[in-house]
Amino acid sequence: MQQRNYWLTTVEFPASSLQPLPDVVDVAVIGSGFTGLSAARTLARHGARAAVLEAETIGWGASSRNGGMVLTGLKLGVNHLISMYGRELTRRMYAASLDTIDCVEHIVREENIECDFSRCGHLEVACKQKHFDDYARQAEVIAREFNHSLRVVEKKDLPEEIGSTLYFGGMVDEVSAGCNPARYVAGLARAAQKSGAEVFEHARVESVQRDSRQGELGWQIQTSRGPLWAHEVFVATSGYTGSATPALRKRIIPIGSYIITSEPLPEKLAHQLSPRNRMIYDSKNYLYYYRLTPDRRMLFGGRAAFFPETDQTIRRSAELLRRGMIAVYPQLADARIDYVWGGTLDFAFDIMPHAGQLDGMYYAVGYAGHGVAMATYQGQKIAELMASEGKGNSKPENPFVGIPFPGMPLGLYNGKPWFLPLAGAWYKFLDWVS
Ligand SMILES: Cc1cc2nc3c(=O)[nH]c(=O)nc-3n(C[C@H](O)[C@H](O)[C@H](O)COP(=O)(O)OP(=O)(O)OC[C@H]3O[C@@H](n4cnc5c(N)ncnc54)[C@H](O)[C@@H]3O)c2cc1C
Repeated sequence: MQQRNYWLTTVEFPASSLQPLPDVVDVAVIGSGFTGLSAARTLARHGARAAVLEAETIGWGASSRNGGMVLTGLKLGVNHLISMYGRELTRRMYAASLDTIDCVEHIVREENIECDFSRCGHLEVACKQKHFDDYARQAEVIAREFNHSLRVVEKKDLPEEIGSTLYFGGMVDEVSAGCNPARYVAGLARAAQKSGAEVFEHARVESVQRDSRQGELGWQIQTSRGPLWAHEVFVATSGYTGSATPALRKRIIPIGSYIITSEPLPEKLAHQLSPRNRMIYDSKNYLYYYRLTPDRRMLFGGRAAFFPETDQTIRRSAELLRRGMIAVYPQLADARIDYVWGGTLDFAFDIMPHAGQLDGMYYAVGYAGHGVAMATYQGQKIAELMASEGKGNSKPENPFVGIPFPGMPLGLYNGKPWFLPLAGAWYKFLDWVS
């Protein structure tokens, strides 16, 4: 077994700019994942000079490491959302979550990105009878309030969807999709570059200070490749947000997620495990998510450790996830595990996506495991918002801009998540009792 991201064995990333950083740009985008690259592509298409500053290499963060599930909906259930935001705003949020999938598909088609994008749908499976009972109620609310149809699958019909007897039933959304995320993020980088954006690797942003230059207000940015000055800054650093943007860091909890992939499986076995090739996840807080890769490996992920990835958490996760996979699919007891890796998710304290401006900088974060589609969408939407500023144009529809963005009360959190062991234990407890 290799401690290595399997997706990276399937992709070639484009070359980044070897030129020195420009002195002045219209927009400095910090981070080269889906958010940053989607934003840079849109900004460049609006005629802005955009420079993407990436601390590591293109797509190095969660965007190349994830499960490739392009999912509708938000992390929180619809009733919870309605109780927090009311019917009208929740309706707009749900509609946006459906638009996110179209947004990814549109970019993939328009830019000819070969990333195995397919509208294969997702399947949520119920770990308890009461979770399954709730599916019918959720599907009814979603059909009535949002005019979107989900299909509830009884236990007796589950073999048409999944070759596991562990679950009490399921719920299918045909609109969701799957892709190879590393190929997708590499394709987005190419598309951003083709549109005129420049991407600089190994350019870690160390500080961002308000500054004026020749009477114009902007930002002085120090990076590990030298300084540059930008009229605007777009922070797209997700779970890897650091000390250069302290206000955002205090509002984001970095949480580890881990994935194993098996050896390529025989066609018949792969078909039995996932007859419709769905993106699958279960109903727990401490959930498992899994799918087949295009070369028929079982990709199996979960929050095996709550902490962000280190050699140690990755090694430990491999065995925990293998055991979880065999509990779901005893047919894989003898399957070889070829790869294990980890990555960091970004959770806000209210488990919602957030976008807009903080301390004068634009940002989009908080995707909570739904970022393949939402990050692409928010990158584009916030870039459209930036392009519309000062031009008298109407602002693009974005129901996540302007919602309250809470931090931890009493300033008890400065970006180092000391409470993760407690949160992990709490969610395990909830999975036990709920
Ligand atoms: C294991 C795992 C599985 C997941 N599975 C799914 C899934 O199946 N479906 C789904 O929808 N979502 C999934 N997600 C979540 C999804 O991958 C993320 O929400 C999404 O990729 C976030 O994209 P992003 O561009 O905002 O951030 P990222 O892709 O994390 O990019 C942030 C970038 O910012 C850079 N950076 C940070 N600080 C600085 C700095 N100071 N200077 C310069 N650069 C900096 C980092 O190096 C990094 O490359 C998963 C995440 C993980 C970790």
